[in-house]
Amino acid sequence: MVTQGSLISRKITIEWTNSTWNPVTGCTKVSAGCDHCYAERLSERFRGVEGHPFETGFDLTLRPEHLEQPLSWRHLQLIFVNSMSDIFHKDIPPSYIKCVFDTMERADWHIYQGPYQAQHR
Ligand code: SF4
Repeated sequence: MVTQGSLISRKITIEWTNSTWNPVTGCTKVSAGCDHCYAERLSERFRGVEGHPFETGFDLTLRPEHLEQPLSWRHLQLIFVNSMSDIFHKDIPPSYIKCVFDTMERADWHIYQGPYQAQHR
């Protein structure tokens, strides 16, 4: 039986932070499930804002400069992978997707959430 006390003590012994990692941003809608896509809403707010990471809005954009980001985070983190896109978007080359998974394998001290949308493939 898990008691409230044991849950609290686990939280105390494991120190972690939550992060997002976006080696890709932007996407295209493929189903009714995309109708209220928060990533689109957020990205499009900054379309045209010069120098902003979402200057191109929700256009699909590979971010190779972020590919190895988790390797530089030395402490355990719960990482939400590709919160601003679908890593399996049909226009993302398989070799790029492989690089994303290679990084997760190399930085295996983290816990990864997603990327399981796969609406495009
Ligand atoms: S697949 Fe996901 S990220 Fe892409 S448009 Fe649909 S809800 Fe948004």
